[in-house]
Amino acid sequence: MFNLILFGPPGSGKGTQAEKLVGKYKLIHLSTGNLLREEISKKTPLGLEAKKFMDKGQLVPDEVVIGMIDSSLEHHKNAAGFLFDGFPRTVAQAKALDKLLELRKNSINTVLALEVGDEEVVKRILDRGKTSGRSDDTNEEVIRKRLSVYKDETAPVAEHYIKSKKFQSVKGEGSIDEIFFSLCEAIDKKKK
Ligand code: ADP
Repeated sequence: MFNLILFGPPGSGKGTQAEKLVGKYKLIHLSTGNLLREEISKKTPLGLEAKKFMDKGQLVPDEVVIGMIDSSLEHHKNAAGFLFDGFPRTVAQAKALDKLLELRKNSINTVLALEVGDEEVVKRILDRGKTSGRSDDTNEEVIRKRLSVYKDETAPVAEHYIKSKKFQSVKGEGSIDEIFFSLCEAIDKKKK
């Protein structure tokens, strides 16, 4: 199995690159943001509860997203590997993920972090908001809140993987294809 985490701030291009990477490496794409939005569109109790946090730019409680990841792993028992996108977003989520994978005799192979500056990220999300239909992408205050939550709660997750020597930064500004190329290069080195 090959398990990859695509890391980086909101708007850093994780979703875009994830789509391309899962096609090339035949991985299962697990995006907690997408899973939560599916719950919202189905108006499930979980979705309605999660929406309150998402609309404010806050994180959904750890146990909710960890539960979703656990069932997704269970659902794809024969997968060649997983690409985690937007998860883990807290150190508690990272530790829970280690345990969930360990229970299945697996682990994270590599964490690739897309580096993009704050102003570029805000610009990209506002641009995406024109067509994404996501209410959290149209309000600059909510976007800035997501960035501050990223710095406070998500950036420390990098440390967790630096300690286990699994962390690598990749330049996240440039064309989609250039960034895809850098990510593939990093993955191919790890797969050797
Ligand atoms: P972005 O990366 O642009 O913020 P996402 O789709 O990854 O977009 O996340 C949208 C929102 O969903 C987040 O602001 C947060 O409220 C919630 N969310 C997604 N993933 C997680 C997670 N792993 N833990 C907690 N909340 C999450």
